[in-house]
Amino acid sequence: MNAFSYSRASDPQAAVNGVAANPKAKFLGGGTNLVDLMKMGVEQPEQLVDINRLALTKVEELPDNGGVRIGALVRNSDLAEHQLITSRYPVLSEALLSGASPQLRNLATTGGNLLQRTRCYYFYDPAFPMCNKRNPGSGCGALEGYNRIHAILGQSDQCIATHPSDMCVAMAALDAVVRVQGPQGERTIPFAEFHRLPGATPNVETNLQPNELITAVDLPAIPFATRSHYLKVRDRASYAFALVSVAAALEMDGDKIKSARIALGGVAHKPWRASKAEQALAGKKAGENSFRGAAEAELAGAKGYTFNSFKIELAKRAITQALTTVARMA
Ligand code: SF4
Repeated sequence: MNAFSYSRASDPQAAVNGVAANPKAKFLGGGTNLVDLMKMGVEQPEQLVDINRLALTKVEELPDNGGVRIGALVRNSDLAEHQLITSRYPVLSEALLSGASPQLRNLATTGGNLLQRTRCYYFYDPAFPMCNKRNPGSGCGALEGYNRIHAILGQSDQCIATHPSDMCVAMAALDAVVRVQGPQGERTIPFAEFHRLPGATPNVETNLQPNELITAVDLPAIPFATRSHYLKVRDRASYAFALVSVAAALEMDGDKIKSARIALGGVAHKPWRASKAEQALAGKKAGENSFRGAAEAELAGAKGYTFNSFKIELAKRAITQALTTVARMA
């Protein structure tokens, strides 16, 4: 691990100023990903600005629109068990509880979860020379390498990594909004625009500007989100990243679907909003045929590699299963 200096910020603007003062400084939240990356030598910050004592730890109802604001330092465990989340957005609670281990969830923060980096093996090993994300222009070791956990949607010839978060998949389906504070003040970023596809710059993973601090995530009021579910398919029952995951919610009118919210995890460089599947379901009768048809529509453009083509059929089945579960909810 490289030597670094450490300071503790007393308020968000001080944290922003502290990071802005050094181009090689980083915010330190729960540290559950950053510290691992520092130990591996993938991240080498010169300075860490600890934000853990900032007053960003509340989950509160938004008075104007019935939504919920989640402070950036709310721990994943606390968020998963919070009554506003379990009662209004069960898909988010389930997604959080499916991620990592209880010990990690006790420390990991909402803001940090958004900034998790891929678990691509080649990215994590600086001894491996080819990784455009870690070392732009060096090539992609996964393209011709062992790519079982890699992307099938939205990838580029520069990078086929996947985003590892479960929480973010649920937030994508819920149309969350990310609140940030930077040297120029505060702004909001719609969740769909927060993470980026790899394109020619896989090293740029989000649309956060330099020195911007995530302060909160807002969830809009979605009454039908009480009927929602997160399905995670993985190699073992706990403490494993998703091969494929599905966050789904259905707005029903009798046995017909008025609207659907679907997002996929484990398949793309960012949480993948399944808008083609959502469109295919509008006005349809709920049932396996409709669900499978929507899944086929979403995966029509999918592309697999040597070791991960199985994910295409797996994603179709997972979408169908998740929607079936939601449709059966009272
Ligand atoms: Fe690096 Fe992306 Fe290729 Fe993995 S998939 S080796 S992260 S460029």
